[in-house]
Amino acid sequence: MYKIADTCVGCHNCAMECPMQAIGYVGLKNEIDQDKCIECGLCEKLCHTASIRDVDAVTVIEKHPPINMECDVVVCGSGTGMIAAVRAAQAGKKVIVLEKSKKTGGNTDYAHMFFPVYTEWHKKNNFEDVRIDAVEEFWNRSGKKIERELIETAVYKSGEFFDWLLQFPDTKKAFDIVSLGEMRNVGPMYTSAMIVFPDRMYDNLLCRDPAIGPGWAGTFIKNQMFKTIREQKLDVEILTEHAAKHLVTDESGTVTGVTAENPGGTVNISAKAVVLATGGMGRSDEKLQKYFNFFDCETPIHRFSVPTDTGDAIDMLQELGVEPDPERMFASIFGPAHHPFSYCVFRIMEHPTCLSVNLNGERWQDETGGLMTGRKTIQNEPKEVAYGIFSQAAVDRIAKEYLDDPALAKEKFVYECWQEDLDDLPSQASGL
Ligand SMILES: Cc1cc2nc3c(=O)[nH]c(=O)nc-3n(C[C@H](O)[C@H](O)[C@H](O)COP(=O)(O)OP(=O)(O)OC[C@H]3O[C@@H](n4cnc5c(N)ncnc54)[C@H](O)[C@@H]3O)c2cc1C
Ligand code: SF4
Ligand code: SF4
Repeated sequence: MYKIADTCVGCHNCAMECPMQAIGYVGLKNEIDQDKCIECGLCEKLCHTASIRDVDAVTVIEKHPPINMECDVVVCGSGTGMIAAVRAAQAGKKVIVLEKSKKTGGNTDYAHMFFPVYTEWHKKNNFEDVRIDAVEEFWNRSGKKIERELIETAVYKSGEFFDWLLQFPDTKKAFDIVSLGEMRNVGPMYTSAMIVFPDRMYDNLLCRDPAIGPGWAGTFIKNQMFKTIREQKLDVEILTEHAAKHLVTDESGTVTGVTAENPGGTVNISAKAVVLATGGMGRSDEKLQKYFNFFDCETPIHRFSVPTDTGDAIDMLQELGVEPDPERMFASIFGPAHHPFSYCVFRIMEHPTCLSVNLNGERWQDETGGLMTGRKTIQNEPKEVAYGIFSQAAVDRIAKEYLDDPALAKEKFVYECWQEDLDDLPSQASGL
């Protein structure tokens, strides 16, 4: 019998592909209707978060004595870590990638788009170079708490990364560049023209869900890295179900390797360099409470993060006496956007004319800034929950605003998605 664990992020891959339509959203995750299920096992193969398994299957785990391995570079995490692995291997290094999950890709597989400020494509198409302004903007957004040089590196290097990605012929087919006209600030981005991934089904893992990957730009980049390893016969060994646990150091304190755990036991890897690419901490309530004062409540909150996103690099560094600085951290609390909720409804709730009340029925913030400003303080409200209240007339008006927005109309896919949402709006709105 196949069952879905609580680690499900609700991406709907399985639900879209189940031949019996046996999978549906219940509460905060998908569940299988056992009366409809024919136990074909397709959903188990598809699930990117390894949340589905045959609970009757007998798994035999063979225990082994400690295994010792050697390489030049060990990369912990197979999301963006795959890029580090490829680049090190292209420089002639022997690389081992450790991946805690059964599946590679982490949250990178869920990333829709890539947000460089300025690239060769911008230059070629005569789009304005706004990198200096972007550094200023991001520095201000960080409350001037993150070093300007660090932000500068991120802004300049992310463009250089895209230029590097352009060496792969598929990049030119998969991505496109779209002018933003007078706009510069778009969501998390700051640019004169946006690199877009127009065909979200390009590198799809059978997912036909328009709202969330895997299958989009993040998957594209990951798969390009796998392809490069194969085609260039790079010396990269990928070990799934291997969780990095401890950094190993010599007497001088220099890191000389990693100790990992697989289901059978310990694996010791000595290496000249260790790359920590274990992702964020979206699935660690303990860390989110400690560093952000979030999720200290009984209300279950939907997470899109993969289950292995538990901030393991922090644990490993703390063992060496390195403490993270919460002042310089940022938690992106962003919902209810995308599946299982309507992006359109989210946008309407975000609108300044939408009233927002807490569970005591009290207005709890100045709504004129929109819900996006309130998301930073919602943790102080009862059970960290707030409702948006709006009339059907307001919905119609706001929906029209979006549909009439030429910037959105240019984004064909977003427009189509929202159009579908808008067609369905009365039922979704009344469900709020
Ligand atoms: C739904 C969603 C949509 C997003 N959309 C976008 C977008 O459109 N554009 C954008 O720029 N960003 C987006 N992001 C953010 C982006 O995906 C992440 O910032 C980025 O993928 C992080 O990359 P990473 O390599 O640090 O972590 P990940 O990609 O999460 O990779 C970390 C890997 O490390 C593994 N791991 C964890 N612990 C260990 C351990 N101890 N040992 C070994 N392996 C370990 C994990 O299993 C995982 O595979 C989105 C995120 C989500 C969840
Ligand atoms: S994470 Fe996605 S594929 Fe896996 S069980 Fe949940 S909805 Fe299905
Ligand atoms: S095992 Fe097959 S029939 Fe059953 S829920 Fe999964 S995909 Fe559907």
